[in-house]
Amino acid sequence: MAISNMEVRRINRNNIFRHILKLNEFSKNEVAISLRLSLPTVAQGMEYLESIGLVEQAGVLPSEGGRRPMSYRCRKNAKVAMGVDITTNHVNIVVVNMALQILYQHRYKEVMDESEEALDWLAGTIMETIQNLNISAEAILGIGFSIPAIVGEDGSMILAIHESMKISQRFFQKLIERTGFPFKMINDANSAAHAECSYHERKSFVYFFLSNSVGGAYVDQEGKIQYGRLMRAGEFGHVTLHPGGRKCYCGRVGCLNEYCNTMLLSNLTGGNLEQFFAKLKEQDEVCAEVWETYMDDLALACHNLLNIYDIPIVLGGYLGEYIEEYIPELEKRVIKYDSYIAGHSMLFAPQQKRMAAAIGAAGQFIEEFIAGI
Ligand SMILES: [Zn+2]
Repeated sequence: MAISNMEVRRINRNNIFRHILKLNEFSKNEVAISLRLSLPTVAQGMEYLESIGLVEQAGVLPSEGGRRPMSYRCRKNAKVAMGVDITTNHVNIVVVNMALQILYQHRYKEVMDESEEALDWLAGTIMETIQNLNISAEAILGIGFSIPAIVGEDGSMILAIHESMKISQRFFQKLIERTGFPFKMINDANSAAHAECSYHERKSFVYFFLSNSVGGAYVDQEGKIQYGRLMRAGEFGHVTLHPGGRKCYCGRVGCLNEYCNTMLLSNLTGGNLEQFFAKLKEQDEVCAEVWETYMDDLALACHNLLNIYDIPIVLGGYLGEYIEEYIPELEKRVIKYDSYIAGHSMLFAPQQKRMAAAIGAAGQFIEEFIAGI
């Protein structure tokens, strides 16, 4: 099907905007050269972006002979989105701009339930954060909530939620009544995988989400997450790792979730994973013993995933903050199961180590906005 001129113009200005979001200051000519577009095409696109307040003039650049070219910059903070990652024990809040640069981040040790106190606290914290950042209500595209749950594709419905969570869909409806912003929910692992895609050029990888619960996502060659028919693709937490093993909250036994969740580690240090790794470095015997078993189980899990996908695995979630220095050891253990990966880097720490799930949740609104330019 032929594309109309209008559509070509839209695609061009969209590409221009995505490109300049990565730059500080630039001239039209630089953009034209980088994107291999004609100068009039870039000028037309920039004029439109300026008219809707997404680009502004920054000054003049030194002359290269002839008239000094005007320099521009992207108004990256013209639109922002908030991401709220709700886990069993924490609420992680971020505010990002259109370039997904973090304007605010904080981890609160709060347990959410459907009580008025919890709702008041979260609604109050959201409003206070926005006020403190001096952001106008019109600049806010929406609030993305990352949760350990299976969420419907449009982000408006919870299909199933982790048993440790004391909130349901009602919680979000009440919260939105209090704050008034558009909202979407997203599965925590999918959300973190989205963030990883945004910060990394790596195409096609498995995001292995290792937090208080375990999940994951498969990102295809196009850099898109494959959700599956029932939105359950990548639920690695509930494949069987040890038949007849520990009872899982899902009702089955021996699920990977029971062997690779990070609470197995953080429970030894009062729920603080950072402290667990600090004690592990101090060669604390109990921590070392638990870590030894954990690494064996993680290696078996990675071996299984590599056999299914044969693409790089990013070890994210809470573990992603600490795993980098243990990857060589983990690879050694995976090679014991199958030597074919020897000499090939297949396991990686995430690019975005902290707050990835919250960033990904906010990122949904940013991507939607940019796609519509
Ligand atoms: Zn299970």
